[in-house]
Amino acid sequence: AKQMGRGTEYIYEQSLQHEITEKARFEVLLRRALEDDLILVYYQPIIDLKTQSIVGAEALVRIKDPDTGSVVFPDSFISIAEDTGLITQLGEKVLQTAVLDIQKLRNKFNQDFYISVNFSNRQFQQEGLLDLVKDILELSGLPPSSLLVELTESLLIQNNSQSRHVLTSLHDLGCKLAIDDFGTGYSALSYLNQFPIDILKIDRSFIEKCESNLTDQSLVVAILNMSQGLGMKVVAEGIENEFQKAFLLSKGCNLGQGYLYSRPIPFDDFSTYLEQY
Ligand code: C2E
Ligand code: CA
Ligand code: CA
Ligand code: CA
Repeated sequence: AKQMGRGTEYIYEQSLQHEITEKARFEVLLRRALEDDLILVYYQPIIDLKTQSIVGAEALVRIKDPDTGSVVFPDSFISIAEDTGLITQLGEKVLQTAVLDIQKLRNKFNQDFYISVNFSNRQFQQEGLLDLVKDILELSGLPPSSLLVELTESLLIQNNSQSRHVLTSLHDLGCKLAIDDFGTGYSALSYLNQFPIDILKIDRSFIEKCESNLTDQSLVVAILNMSQGLGMKVVAEGIENEFQKAFLLSKGCNLGQGYLYSRPIPFDDFSTYLEQY
């Protein structure tokens, strides 16, 4: 063991060691979750801010820790899933669960809301992804137009021919494509009209700061104006209060999600939420 006298170097090694141990722990948890069916999908409603009606939901993954019974959030394991390649299996599980769940609710409530699913860049390199999506849609009966694929700007920047093919094919199939966390990546504006993008999701950080920060307000307005010119819709993420909602509505942003309406909740709670809405 190192001597305490080694000072900062010792502390550095300790925290590095801690990080490695944490990563290994989450990798074990992830593998176990995939094997033992401990992957949970939570749903956060997406709202028409004007009419207050629910137009869709975003699927957000969690893991139920079998030892503690607690719910583990994706920030702890998504990057590990990406690095280990387990994201393929995880993504498949989330997509299947979300599509089947949402189709059940569409039937139950006789409504045509959509489901928004997050895809990691690596999933676009996955062999058979298109067939997988087709199969899941067919099996569930969900129309392709009710599946919204959330991707990040970095995928478009890579401009890889395989992902270009997959995106175009998904769009041809009828699925909708959304850029997640829009505005936080690179200034990828030139890529916007090279891919069939339908929706921009304004990152929560802009919505959060728009109350006090005029620069963020004008960024939100700029994104809204640009989306109009490009024929894209905009969804605001992370709406937490009435001020933010009123600001967005006044600037013509009609779609949003956030704690003001609901946190992401389990399927049964989401079903109850819809019943009582
Ligand atoms: P994201 O796609 O940007 O999802 C939005 C995150 O913001 C979610 O965190 C959500 O719970 C949180 N959020 C929603 N409304 C509010 C609000 O009003 N205030 C605040 N403070 N937060 C809000 P979550 O569920 O922890 O997910 C974190 C990230 O993990 C997601 O960010 C996404 O990048 C990733 N992720 C989640 N599920 C999946 C998945 O199935 N596949 C992949 N590849 N990534 C996923
Ligand atoms: Ca998302
Ligand atoms: Ca987002
Ligand atoms: Ca995010």
